[in-house]
Amino acid sequence: MTVKSTGGVPDRIVVVGAGVAGIAAVERLRSLGHSGKITVIDAGEQPYDRPPLSKAFLLGEAGLEQIRLVPESWFDENDVELRARRSAVRLRPAEGSVELDDGSHAPADAVLLATGGVPRPLPVPGGNLPGVHVLRTIEDARGLREALVPGAGAVVIGGGLIGAEVASSAVALGCEVTLIEPVDPPLAAAVGTEIATLLHRQHTQAGIRVVTDTVARLEGGSGRLTVVTGTGKAFTADVVVAGIGMTVPGDLARTAGLDTADGVIVDRFHRTSHPAVFAAGDSARVCGPDGRLHRREHWQAAQQGGRAAAAAMLGQPPAVPDPDWFWSDRHGVHVESVGDLRGYGRHVRRGTSGSLPLTVFNLADDGRVLGAAAVDDPRAIAAARRLIGAGAAPDPDLLADTSVNPRTWLRG
Ligand SMILES: Cc1cc2nc3c(=O)[nH]c(=O)nc-3n(C[C@H](O)[C@H](O)[C@H](O)COP(=O)(O)OP(=O)(O)OC[C@H]3O[C@@H](n4cnc5c(N)ncnc54)[C@H](O)[C@@H]3O)c2cc1C
Repeated sequence: MTVKSTGGVPDRIVVVGAGVAGIAAVERLRSLGHSGKITVIDAGEQPYDRPPLSKAFLLGEAGLEQIRLVPESWFDENDVELRARRSAVRLRPAEGSVELDDGSHAPADAVLLATGGVPRPLPVPGGNLPGVHVLRTIEDARGLREALVPGAGAVVIGGGLIGAEVASSAVALGCEVTLIEPVDPPLAAAVGTEIATLLHRQHTQAGIRVVTDTVARLEGGSGRLTVVTGTGKAFTADVVVAGIGMTVPGDLARTAGLDTADGVIVDRFHRTSHPAVFAAGDSARVCGPDGRLHRREHWQAAQQGGRAAAAAMLGQPPAVPDPDWFWSDRHGVHVESVGDLRGYGRHVRRGTSGSLPLTVFNLADDGRVLGAAAVDDPRAIAAARRLIGAGAAPDPDLLADTSVNPRTWLRG
């Protein structure tokens, strides 16, 4: 890609993908003073937020208007050209442009790939039968909403974040829900075993049949599907939802010669192997100092990645990243996790095991907070985010004491 630039700064920037990563990048480009042309290309009808798709949108409590990422007027106000319902089909480095699916070209001295991902297909016979739903786009959510009518039998495959939220919404919509998940409890690496167990148990308490098993195959006929598990159990359903993670289509990146590994490989500045191409959000794999590639498929990571890429495009240092943080809502509770909850370190509990609110901290040997996960305790997580960022080692007794206001921990 030829770089037409002012003092090393690209003049014409194309952002492919108007999800949270792409929009955050554009916001940051403008706030850092970039005044050149910005074109945003997105395959969807207009930019919207994905987390509500499995929650308020699926429950019919919010429509497209409520889940827009930015108001329609935002593009004009920020002098940004939005090419909606258009796909980027090829990056053309030699010509300094991006080719769109209508044959037109957007001029580009630099490109940000913020193309997100697609649901991982069910890798079993019958995995793509009609009636098997996935959830990534608003069209997916509309289709699922139509299928999840009261009394419908729904089998949800996968008890991770999206599967659990869909199961929760489906039971709230009056469906007979079966959740099939091979690991008990799922999400232990993300929220720690104690909270993962509490969350997984909530499904049963809500009336969901939880089956710990793999899925071997799906069989279809006359509008009903049968899900057969690895141990030979069979569950018949009107609707099947597969929530088994996501994958990143690589054509755009590969034809541009970028290094990929189920995502575009970037350094911590979100630079790809091509000097004029950057990547952020779910489609990026950030190479850590240890050489390992990190998947960070959460909203805040996408927002931070977009902002960091924008700074790097303009040759400016990125902000110090916040520790990884995500949330989930299911069965009327709010879950948050920040930092590292994996099985090492000393766990300190704030609250009573098995009841709410509950927070679990993961402390390093020297007492520093490595991570925290909570159900219905956002103040504890807000404080934990700052403790982790500061490398602080608060008194564990104060962390555990539910009568102590979390703000107190920050004063140490
Ligand atoms: C149902 C659901 C619920 C979620 N809930 C939570 C939650 O509660 N908490 C949390 O932290 N995270 C949640 N997430 C994850 C979070 O939404 C994602 O991490 C985030 O949306 C990633 O943003 P992104 O900008 O990288 O990608 P996306 O939001 O996927 O945006 C990518 C955009 O690129 C466009 N695109 C792709 N290819 C092309 C192309 N070739 N040309 C033009 N446009 C293209 C797509 O149309 C899309 O609009 C959820 C995700 C889903 C799907």
